[in-house]
Amino acid sequence: MKPIYVDNNATTRVDEEVFAAMQPYFCEEYGNPSSMHSVGGRVGPKLKEARNQVANLIGARPDEIIFTSCGTESDNTAVHAALAADPGKRHIVTSRVEHPAIGSLVSSLSKQGYRISEIAVDGDGCLDMGSLEESLTPDTALVSIMWANNETGVIFPVEEIAQMCRQRGITFHTDAVQAVGKLPINLNDSAIDMLSLSGHKLHAPKGIGALYVRKGTKFSPFMIGGHQEKGRRAGTENVPGIIALGKACELAGKNMQEENTRVRDLRDRLETELIKRIPDAKINGTVKQRTPNTSNISFANIEGESILLMLNEFGICASSGSACTSGSLEPSHVMRAMGVPFTMAHGSIRFSLSIYNTLADIDEIIKQLPPIVERLRVLSPFS
Ligand code: PLP
Repeated sequence: MKPIYVDNNATTRVDEEVFAAMQPYFCEEYGNPSSMHSVGGRVGPKLKEARNQVANLIGARPDEIIFTSCGTESDNTAVHAALAADPGKRHIVTSRVEHPAIGSLVSSLSKQGYRISEIAVDGDGCLDMGSLEESLTPDTALVSIMWANNETGVIFPVEEIAQMCRQRGITFHTDAVQAVGKLPINLNDSAIDMLSLSGHKLHAPKGIGALYVRKGTKFSPFMIGGHQEKGRRAGTENVPGIIALGKACELAGKNMQEENTRVRDLRDRLETELIKRIPDAKINGTVKQRTPNTSNISFANIEGESILLMLNEFGICASSGSACTSGSLEPSHVMRAMGVPFTMAHGSIRFSLSIYNTLADIDEIIKQLPPIVERLRVLSPFS
């Protein structure tokens, strides 16, 4: 049975064209781009092409792209760079709903004496912009706010925040791991200083990411060693990964329209039908500002984990909360920050679609989920 995979915010399938583009760079063109000989020399132009492809997708200049190993490394690098650039400043502003790549990092920095302001969200998952503005002080070294939330898809007004930061001379970073490839991004025309992205969320393989650093932003490397990436990220380049990321970005640009029409329609159909058929079900996160592929729905009085296990028996792969938090019975930090009541937060399921999903996939979920919820509610101690 071919799975119905609706867990694309956790990771995506590698696109066949992406795989084909990277394949020669394992056994045939395996050179190190730093080598002087022809085997190494043939790789350099491909890296340049990939850098152009990534830059094109987000409206950046190629020399503003630094290849990293993943979204987490990009986030860590950005935070490190901003703090190192302004060592006298000891305050960081972020949100309560960041991915642990930022959330756990700032917790660890608080133990090193940094003061952290974690901006609250409301019941719809929207950021409290008033308290964000009030939190900015002359001691603020960095504001890091995600572009789109991985659990709910809620989009934050990052450009507005970037402008606020620019007016005050504060560095602004955004974790755009869940936004790149889904939403149009034009950094040439923006006040964002740094942006993280990750290959495996957009049909490239795991283990490759990138950090955009606006030209002129003070930067100090996180990985120290060789001169790769113009001294901004040491370590021999992941050549096949970089080529794959370039190709994936090119394809994401071409598929963006489909993502925002067909995929969005599939997501909306899934939600509308589930809400219609299942009593006491509620969408988490504002429907006004969301990535087109993501739906997070709470089903009252049952465990999300039980729903997932039963869906899995029908080959349907979704997630409860983020992949990192599922497995624990604690409601996710995002649901808690939104104030979702305990009985709803526990039964929250995230469906995250991609261009590979079909109408038949969605209709199968619509068919299978209502009886699953009904059965679990009969067994539930809460009902
Ligand atoms: N940021 C967000 C918003 C994410 O969703 C993820 C992964 O789920 C990451 C960062 C981490 O990316 P990576 O898995 O490439 O380290």
